[in-house]
Amino acid sequence: MRYILALDQGTTSSRAILFDKKGSPAGVAQQEFTQHFPQPGWVEHDATEIWQTQLAVARQVLEEQSVDASQIDAIGITNQRETVVLWDRATGEPVHNALVWQDRRTADFCDALKAAGHAETIQAKTGLVIDPYFSGTKLRWLLDNVPGARDRAARGELCFGTIDAWLVYCLTGGDVHVTDASNASRTLLLNIHEGKWDPDLLDILDIPEKVLPRVRSSSEIYGHTSLLGADIPIAGMAGDQQAALFGQACHESGMAKNTYGTGCFMLMNTGTEPIRSQKGLLTTIAWDLGGETIYALEGSVFIAGAVVQWLRDGLQIIDSAPEIEQLAADDNGGVYFVPAFVGLGTPYWDPYARGTMIGMTRGTTRAHVARAALESIAFQSQDVIRAMASESGIELSELRVDGGATANGLLMQIQADLLGTAVVRPTVQETTALGAAYLAGLATGFWESLEQISRLWDRDKTFEPDMDREKAQQLTRQWRRAVERSGRWATTEGDA
Ligand code: ADP
Repeated sequence: MRYILALDQGTTSSRAILFDKKGSPAGVAQQEFTQHFPQPGWVEHDATEIWQTQLAVARQVLEEQSVDASQIDAIGITNQRETVVLWDRATGEPVHNALVWQDRRTADFCDALKAAGHAETIQAKTGLVIDPYFSGTKLRWLLDNVPGARDRAARGELCFGTIDAWLVYCLTGGDVHVTDASNASRTLLLNIHEGKWDPDLLDILDIPEKVLPRVRSSSEIYGHTSLLGADIPIAGMAGDQQAALFGQACHESGMAKNTYGTGCFMLMNTGTEPIRSQKGLLTTIAWDLGGETIYALEGSVFIAGAVVQWLRDGLQIIDSAPEIEQLAADDNGGVYFVPAFVGLGTPYWDPYARGTMIGMTRGTTRAHVARAALESIAFQSQDVIRAMASESGIELSELRVDGGATANGLLMQIQADLLGTAVVRPTVQETTALGAAYLAGLATGFWESLEQISRLWDRDKTFEPDMDREKAQQLTRQWRRAVERSGRWATTEGDA
């Protein structure tokens, strides 16, 4: 038997998963690592610990499954996106902890970039908005705040990378310094139309080109590792959300996936044309494969599965997340719940919105609240999907789903009913790791073509819409009214 080894380097854990020729998982190992919060709003990881846990789980999964390294055809990497590592090119020693995507320390600098009028240029070139979330301002912070870093960077002694680049460097013993186009497109430094680091952007952010990795495609042999006991090619890489889109076999323009976790992450393949958003969606590189760059529109919902956690831990009306499915089985009794706990994102973009529950009467029960909470996940996802459809001019034929909350069949049915579109849950839920495996396996011939991979993708369950459209539209209209009432709350009466 031969396998592809996927390394899935996430925000809280490092995982390694073996996939067989059918694209089925044949073993998983996982290790959590330390989260560092040195100041409010700052989030760091120890890049060395990331590497050590990643290497440990790769060795562990081989050992546990009694698979020899010589049976691994290739390694694919997928990773938490935007997180920044800066390290010494010669020794591989990080000069500082990694700055994690969640880290907000560059908020002031981002405000200054906006005030200086750079938003338009940056959106046009990168498809992104100016926000501390993305890597570029974090890299600049490191260069400015680690003693000596700027001088060393100018002399070519330092390497910058997102986690993909860091892992390839470590796996190859420091021989290879590369990133893939999907990860590069999250840095604020890449011109997504040309697939190249952009001199104007480097200028705006004051980044020396010498620290940057080479940008390569998402599926090719970048180098080899001998750390697992045989010489294995590293042959595929993509950021986690893009890898999930690939793992869901959304290869054609107009196909989309939604991941239902703490929040929701939705990506729609828009083919070879990047679509610029007016509604606050991001334009990003999905992957670069076989000489072709494929783009995606991306939108997210901040609070999705987290609303279920809140019912459990905050409101305490359920003991466990799965319990909600039975409790919410009937209608909402006229109750609408907008979980704008941290404001609202696409397409409302109101940081001052706050959680709102409306429509209660004396007949309202916890069952209605539970139903309204579940519906809020579907309504918010629907808002993002509608924004994507209107900007791309593409109506979805089906929505492919993954993530922890897709275990809830009722939620999936509500989603299908509201959208009027089939919602499809695949048999392999490890879509992120699978995407990385597919990218690697395509480069080495383990899998032959996109068509072959599409055939391997298999549905576990399809939720067909089963609601009268008029009813769905009426529910959606009420939802919009509730959203309107949640808006701009934290600023009214100066109660921010
Ligand atoms: P993340 O990767 O963001 O940690 P997961 O994909 O592991 O998220 O999904 C966990 C989320 O899914 C939690 O917010 C949890 O409340 C939610 N969840 C898990 N099971 C259910 C369920 N049966 N019904 C609704 N939500 C659920």
